[in-house]
Amino acid sequence: MADDAPALTFQAVRCGTLFDGTGAEPVRDAVILIGDGRVAAAGPAASTPIPPGAAVLDCHDRFVMPGLIDAHSHISIVPGLGDQIGQLRQRPVPQALRATANLRRDLAAGTTTMRVMTEVDFLDVEMRDAIGAGVIPGPRLVVATRGITSSNGHGRVHDSFDGPDEIRRGVRENFRRGADIVKIFATGGVSSPGTTLKASVYGRDEIRAAVEEADRAGSYVAAHAHGGPGLRLSIEEGVATIEHCGLATDDDIGLMIEKRTWLICTFSIFMHATGIEQGDGREPAIMDKLRAARRVVEEAFPRHLASGVRFAVGTDSMHGLLPFELETLVRFGVSPRDALLAGTRWGAEACRLDGDLGTLAPGKRADLIAVDGDPLRDIRALQRVTHVVKDGQLQAGPGLALCAPTTRRDER
Ligand SMILES: [Zn+2]
Repeated sequence: MADDAPALTFQAVRCGTLFDGTGAEPVRDAVILIGDGRVAAAGPAASTPIPPGAAVLDCHDRFVMPGLIDAHSHISIVPGLGDQIGQLRQRPVPQALRATANLRRDLAAGTTTMRVMTEVDFLDVEMRDAIGAGVIPGPRLVVATRGITSSNGHGRVHDSFDGPDEIRRGVRENFRRGADIVKIFATGGVSSPGTTLKASVYGRDEIRAAVEEADRAGSYVAAHAHGGPGLRLSIEEGVATIEHCGLATDDDIGLMIEKRTWLICTFSIFMHATGIEQGDGREPAIMDKLRAARRVVEEAFPRHLASGVRFAVGTDSMHGLLPFELETLVRFGVSPRDALLAGTRWGAEACRLDGDLGTLAPGKRADLIAVDGDPLRDIRALQRVTHVVKDGQLQAGPGLALCAPTTRRDER
């Protein structure tokens, strides 16, 4: 039984190759030392001796790198099932059960941290805290709770917020209930039939209100925005990360570079055959938007990704497919090294978690994965994640019941 599995905590990891995410060259035959769930040292085996009696995770024939950071997902949605908003409207218990299964898949595929970009009933707060307490396995979660959207906007599930005052109230209530960050829907989206990708739902004063409230709470705003005035306003008003960005012009990207706005790429949900195509492809209005988005992204993203704009990646609910996101970056001309950084250090920076995460430098949390193969040579090797360690504890690995809980709390 997974519940009875011992906590598998390690003080050292032997690495065939170590890619630490700091920008340093990969090191062959390396060792990572771990203390209190954090990296104590990392370097060549010859100069990083393992203390006698230390519990060692042997990955001498593996490529070891920081745990992956999914900068944009939802925990309860499976896009291939269709009608994502309808999925969000289900009752909380089925939601929680589906989310538990989804998060296991993400964790086993190497995602150790995930930014959750809208859930209902504060499910994401409960799941974040349950994972943190060791009740269920899963990536470390950073949560947005309810999306801030307008009455007629994309992403509306139950609540909507019109005008600066309602937005301020919505953002403040989200924080009171446990949100870490703010998600605002600034344009239409692909998976809802009634909105266009450039439809701008919020005005400048509304976006500004969200940014001010987030800022006051020591947080930031992430904006769902594909293109057009909603994207422009979001960048101008100081939104920290732009999600999707499918129809951004070169001018928009230029302004993002100037304002140091992060671009969060989410390719798999509309490019992978098991995404929106499988779930909602029978709806002609959605399929038309999907095809148009694919065409534009294939044409524009190789240019955007080479422009100097800062970028990271998210699966947008395509659980377990973060490696596909990184493969797509490479297909669009990004070097495998930069793709790995987008999935680790840059993701941490975009989510403002880089004080703790994203590299295997001393002091950072010991979140790491081992891969069978060399993703710097062939990025598809990332599909073969064999070990997942979070806070120095083995979460998934050969011979382990998938993602055994690592600690137990009887009552919460
Ligand atoms: Zn999303």
